[in-house]
Amino acid sequence: MSEKTREELIEEVADLIANAKRVMVFTGAGISTESGIPDFRGPDGLWTKVDPNDFTYQKFVSDKEARKRLWQLNRYMGLTWKDIEPNLAHYAVAEMDKMGKLDCVITQNVDGLHQKAGVPDDKVIQLHGNMQWVKCIDCGVRHSYEEVERWLEAGAEDLECVQCGGILKPDAVFFGEAMPVHETMEAERRSSQCDLCIVIGSSLVVYPAALMPQYALQSGAKIVIINDGETGMDRAADVRIWDKAGEVMSEVVKKVKSKLGVD
Ligand code: NAD
Ligand code: ZN
Repeated sequence: MSEKTREELIEEVADLIANAKRVMVFTGAGISTESGIPDFRGPDGLWTKVDPNDFTYQKFVSDKEARKRLWQLNRYMGLTWKDIEPNLAHYAVAEMDKMGKLDCVITQNVDGLHQKAGVPDDKVIQLHGNMQWVKCIDCGVRHSYEEVERWLEAGAEDLECVQCGGILKPDAVFFGEAMPVHETMEAERRSSQCDLCIVIGSSLVVYPAALMPQYALQSGAKIVIINDGETGMDRAADVRIWDKAGEVMSEVVKKVKSKLGVD
């Protein structure tokens, strides 16, 4: 059998979206690389530059030096969250919502870019929290990352809670840390109820997050994977597009619009 062209694959994805009743979009770090945020496992991923062991919860809470390295890394990467903008792929997902073709986005990302692109807050399930907030692990008080950044600019190295002196930690789930209960349950429920699951920019190897597309598959949903690299579910996919998410998703959405007769 001859290989399908990219055009044919995009047409298939657009058909699946046009005919679906409940679409769940599942995203990982790969949807945000075109916004300038490095992924972990790609060729320019973070793991080629830093030690993943610094990102375990246990290390962060027990080792002051590891905390200092993490805050400095954030500054070095220029992760001033307010300056980072969504890319074509995030906007395409937001367009799907405007067309009534999005039940929810389940994301492993901590960058808030789906919401910034226009997907309503209540449709974004953040499995791994959000780096734009920093939280005291003792009393739970939250600060915006922008505020924390000002402290770092002023020379602070390890950050302490102003209220109780506790350790401040980005409000994202670290390795070895439990996933948020409400978000996980909601993601499981929505995954099992969708009839189409579109995976964008995830290697599908980080568990338990990667279970969500599997729940969708087990419940009979069609699976589309758009990822510029191998994933753990390639063989289960109904359509698999190996390419950059931004361009592919904008072409897909353009096709869906013409099929549904909206502009
Ligand atoms: P991953 O790093 O394991 O995989 C990302 C995948 O995306 C890779 O297979 C890569 O080849 C692919 N990719 C990269 N650029 C792409 C593009 N432009 N278009 C399509 N595909 C592209 O990421 P993951 O599976 O999401 O797991 C990493 C974990 O790290 C997640 O749990 C997430 O919480 C966290 N993380 C989040 C961010 C963020 O919030 N933006 C960034 C880095 C890591
Ligand atoms: Zn505190």
